[in-house]
Amino acid sequence: MCIFCKIINKEVPAAVVYEDDDVLAFKDVRPLAPVHILIIPKRHIESISNLTEEDTELAGKLILTAKKIAEDFDISPKGYKLLFRVGEWGGQEVPHIHLHLIGGAKLQENIHPEVI
Ligand code: AMP
Ligand code: ZN
Repeated sequence: MCIFCKIINKEVPAAVVYEDDDVLAFKDVRPLAPVHILIIPKRHIESISNLTEEDTELAGKLILTAKKIAEDFDISPKGYKLLFRVGEWGGQEVPHIHLHLIGGAKLQENIHPEVI
């Protein structure tokens, strides 16, 4: 089972900030900014590459959940970054779809080179 599925099953601890039947959101353990949260589907899907037409609603829900959490953390007025890494060349390390919500500071590419 992948590390994020273990977090969903509460076998691995995480700082959960939002949860419902479809998605889970928790703080990234190696934050790149003051706010760095990962939003994941509860169903194991390896990558954006593996999404199908039937996942349209779920994919939209990941984005709308990020929007809601950005509002909860009060980073919405100034703005933030949403990022999906996809596959090897996209730099994806964990094989379970995750949407990065990164904010709380003015993000500059030269300060956070790993965040393209
Ligand atoms: P990616 O490189 O897009 O696959 O991002 C994976 C992210 O997951 C990285 O930013 C890691 O810091 C984060 N991460 C890995 N393991 C954990 C964990 N157990 N709890 C929280 N975040 C994690
Ligand atoms: Zn998984």
